[in-house]
Amino acid sequence: MRRPVNSHKRTEFYNIQGVVDNLQMANPKGIEKIGAEKIRIVWDDDHVSDYPFRYLRENCPCALCRDEFSGRMILDPKTIPADITSLRESVIGHYGLAFSFSDEHGTGIYTFDGLRKLCPCAECEKGIFTGV
Ligand SMILES: [Zn+2]
Ligand SMILES: [Zn+2]
Repeated sequence: MRRPVNSHKRTEFYNIQGVVDNLQMANPKGIEKIGAEKIRIVWDDDHVSDYPFRYLRENCPCALCRDEFSGRMILDPKTIPADITSLRESVIGHYGLAFSFSDEHGTGIYTFDGLRKLCPCAECEKGIFTGV
């Protein structure tokens, strides 16, 4: 049995959706692979993030590497080959990136918001960037 659509509820839904949209702050304006070593993302606020592939592999967000509920890492970084690289990168819509890593792992989708939080630069590590 389907309940009749409640117009008040529907308004509420759109309000929540609006908030969610406002939180989607991380948008890349440029993505560039730099050799076999790293990928560079230039964000729409001109912040530049360099992600070594090893760092990305270590932070793989997929369910095999990370506990979905606690976010705790399951992956043992010692099992990642020292010469890890990305063989292929795919852009997933306006949403994120996927990598085919040279250790044949490629199930993680790195959302742009997640990537922005992962930015390893000194500025972000100090927590100066607090958006998203
Ligand atoms: Zn993974
Ligand atoms: Zn940064």
